[in-house]
Amino acid sequence: MRTLVIALLALALSACSQAESKESPAKAPVKGQVMRPKISASGYDITPLPADQVAKLAAKLTPEQYRITQKAGTEAPFCGTLLDNHKEGVYVCVVCGLPLFSSAHKFNSGTGWPSFYREFDPQHVARKSDGSLGMERTEIDCARCGAHLGHVFDDGPAPTHERHCLNSASLKFVEKGEPLPAESQPLKTAASGP
Ligand code: FE
Repeated sequence: MRTLVIALLALALSACSQAESKESPAKAPVKGQVMRPKISASGYDITPLPADQVAKLAAKLTPEQYRITQKAGTEAPFCGTLLDNHKEGVYVCVVCGLPLFSSAHKFNSGTGWPSFYREFDPQHVARKSDGSLGMERTEIDCARCGAHLGHVFDDGPAPTHERHCLNSASLKFVEKGEPLPAESQPLKTAASGP
């Protein structure tokens, strides 16, 4: 009987120790750990930038660009530099250079802010709910550096019926034919050839 009790106790202790090991917390990230790169469908590196790198890039912005992209500010309507830009080209993030919107999808919404009915690549623009100012809106940010861009609404034209309402200060325009800076180019792959 005594042997049986000891055996049962040993079994119970063993089960406890196994349960503890299963529930142990995940390993904390190691400082300096390199994240696996996240590549968008259009071939861009959209791995989220670390905070210190964003801070370094943001230090080069004008006070207005900083207020809007880093503090979720909004520029006054009909005042942005890109509202009436009708040239062909790509609109990249003013902070990190990721292509965000294309002139092919720009339209005149009459709101006073540059408007697009779709993103350059949906994976390049992150969405999150924004309950500020007593309204329920969907905020849009750069997926790579987190820069605040504006908001997206569901009153846009076909085919998406979306209206991406942008701050000019969050964007940099690169006209078609102009060289794209390295941070605005897709990754080179073996499949793309010379
Ligand atoms: Fe960015």
